[in-house]
Amino acid sequence: MIAPENDDLWTRLRAEFHLPPGQIYLDGNSLGLLSRRAEDQLTACLQAWKQHGIGGWQTAGWIDLPERLAARLEPLLCAAPRSVALTGQTTNNLHQLLATLYDPTNTQRPVILADALNFASDHHAISSHLQLRGRDPEQDLRLVGSVDGATLTTADIVAAMTENVQVIVLPSVLYVSGQLLDLARITAEARKRGILIGWDLSHSVGVVPHELDANGADFAFWCNYKYLNAGPGAIGGLYLNQRHHDRAPGMAGWWGVQPDVRFNLEPHHTPAAGAARLQVGTPPILSLAPLAGSLDLFDEAGGISAIRERSLLLNARLLHRVITDLVPRGFELITPEAPHERGGHLALRHPAAGQICPALRERGIVPDYRHPAVLRLSPNAFYTAPDEVDEAVDRLIEIMETRAYENFPRVETAAP
Ligand SMILES: *Cc1c(COP(=O)(O)O)cnc(C)c1O
Repeated sequence: MIAPENDDLWTRLRAEFHLPPGQIYLDGNSLGLLSRRAEDQLTACLQAWKQHGIGGWQTAGWIDLPERLAARLEPLLCAAPRSVALTGQTTNNLHQLLATLYDPTNTQRPVILADALNFASDHHAISSHLQLRGRDPEQDLRLVGSVDGATLTTADIVAAMTENVQVIVLPSVLYVSGQLLDLARITAEARKRGILIGWDLSHSVGVVPHELDANGADFAFWCNYKYLNAGPGAIGGLYLNQRHHDRAPGMAGWWGVQPDVRFNLEPHHTPAAGAARLQVGTPPILSLAPLAGSLDLFDEAGGISAIRERSLLLNARLLHRVITDLVPRGFELITPEAPHERGGHLALRHPAAGQICPALRERGIVPDYRHPAVLRLSPNAFYTAPDEVDEAVDRLIEIMETRAYENFPRVETAAP
């Protein structure tokens, strides 16, 4: 049971969000909603630009906004000061981290190990990166397979850590099934073998607590537009373990130069301290500003453990309804049931998922669809009310009982 004063807290936090009218929004794992705080920060930023023009870099503090916000993300990741940077996008950041850490001349260990289920963009990045560095992805990109097409096992991942592996890139939470991998154990196994390991945290940052330093991860990268509610295509993030802070950036640019000499514009690159050296060009202030407001709400919620607790509570409620009401109606739950093996959403497989999703949308429920047969539902700690979880399941039952979904053509595309 949650204490009543906690209920008040979550009711108050929910009121901080712009909830799309008439909708029960269960898609915050794809695009988090806009909070009033984020909106205010963005408006203030536009106001400063209106009033001060270029002066805004100083008067509005744009000049070090990325560093100031990165420092506020560090507690969410249990990352040491200066080991987080806000820059680029998820995929670019993976390129940047590989450019900085992967050594193509190490012919004893040329292999990058990833998994068969990760977001395709990570594969594109790794594979094109290997090519760019003169390696053959056919040889040097190895994928850990999945027996059930939805989850990975620690045993399979560890078994793939052979002597020729140099770098591992894995998702913390698998974007389709919602499985949360055992980051501590897998990171430890990689470290024992002298393999560098990095995590794609897109589906866990802002909903699952991390201990990147304590685990010893070498690097991580993520987007801020899912559980961090920073807006469509918001600035990306990366983490670089302190032990790599002396590395030269693989893809250097002037915003990665030490701030006090950056504007001297010398041809020689003097890297900034820590992960900030991996910044490349001028930061997109308009895409950073909403994150400042959003992070205020993380503080007010009591930090990432409180958010995880709330998220697990809502997901447990959904899980219970899935098992009692939806599995008997032909849905297969592909998310592991144990709380420590789940992120912030549940995934259901159904052959008609592409028709069930539009039927749900017509009833004001916003799910997420993944081709060809998966429905994802993500009750959000900040803005989903517990009874909305029941309402969504009730609508799903109705759609299945009346076969209402048969009136809808299959959806073929999904948003990012
Ligand atoms: C959302 C997501 C991305 C997004 O990459 P972008 O470069 O921001 O488009 C990458 N990886 C995973 C696992 C994701 O869920």
